[in-house]
Amino acid sequence: MAFSQETYARAIDMLRDMSLEKKRVYRQKEAELHHKIPELAAIEQQIRALNLKTVSAVFSGEGVADIHKEIKELSAKKSKILKEHEQEEYSPVCSICNDRFLVNGKYCDCVTAAATEIALKELYATVGAQNYGFENFDISYYPENCRGGMQKLYDFCKDYADSFSGSSKNLLFMGKTGLGKTHLSVAIAKQVIKKGYGVKYYSAQNLFTVCEKEHFSYSGQTPQSDEMLTCDLLIIDDLGAEFITSFSKSALYNIVNTRYNMGRPTIINTNFDVDQIEEKYSERIGSRFMGNYTAKLFKGNDVRQLKNQ
Ligand SMILES: [Zn+2]
Repeated sequence: MAFSQETYARAIDMLRDMSLEKKRVYRQKEAELHHKIPELAAIEQQIRALNLKTVSAVFSGEGVADIHKEIKELSAKKSKILKEHEQEEYSPVCSICNDRFLVNGKYCDCVTAAATEIALKELYATVGAQNYGFENFDISYYPENCRGGMQKLYDFCKDYADSFSGSSKNLLFMGKTGLGKTHLSVAIAKQVIKKGYGVKYYSAQNLFTVCEKEHFSYSGQTPQSDEMLTCDLLIIDDLGAEFITSFSKSALYNIVNTRYNMGRPTIINTNFDVDQIEEKYSERIGSRFMGNYTAKLFKGNDVRQLKNQ
């Protein structure tokens, strides 16, 4: 259960930049204040000198208590002056890890929070639809005879997201365009990211383009393709809308099969039915889906068209 190393690295970069900026602004204000109140500058200098003295005092074992007492008095004086000039003492961006980003050898909560923010932004950039969530899925757009079924499907998806464990079921969302497959799968992605899991969301077209590019590049690097296989949850949107080639067929089988063998869940949205999947891709992909995926059928009229009316 984790975001990718790249996401964590970006999160730490972001926090480090924030920390440096906060320090820079503080130092600037501090310098102005020292200029205005020479007494404050003198106190700072005394504290620094006493801190150095502490080191040698600790070695000799003499006078440590006196030095500490003196530092305490000077610090109190300093606080009083700062307060009078409405300048607060410096505080780090994160008071838990003191901007070290690690606590007991693990990422601090501030890193997890920043990584979550980055992963969500990445998802929004991919799907270009920030507003897809469980909170704004509107059953009333569906014809009356479909609402009961859609409500059950909605509840199923919400429960899936809430109880996601990294070894959850594989899902196959089937049904025509505009029936909410993308909406509910993005809603699941958001919720699962917020739980701290690494989610990758691709349109089928984009997924195979990336696979092909990395497969035929001479760098030997396949970072995105590797992540497709290993991330906690992979979502492939609109399978069947891509240009189907023998490469994309074998790439799809490889992804589906490898993730199944590793016990990592995948959600696939498609307009195809099982017969079409077997016909367009292969029988073995069709039987993988039938055997190892929970299929959910979306019914109704094109919700997107209705919404635009
Ligand atoms: Zn922290």
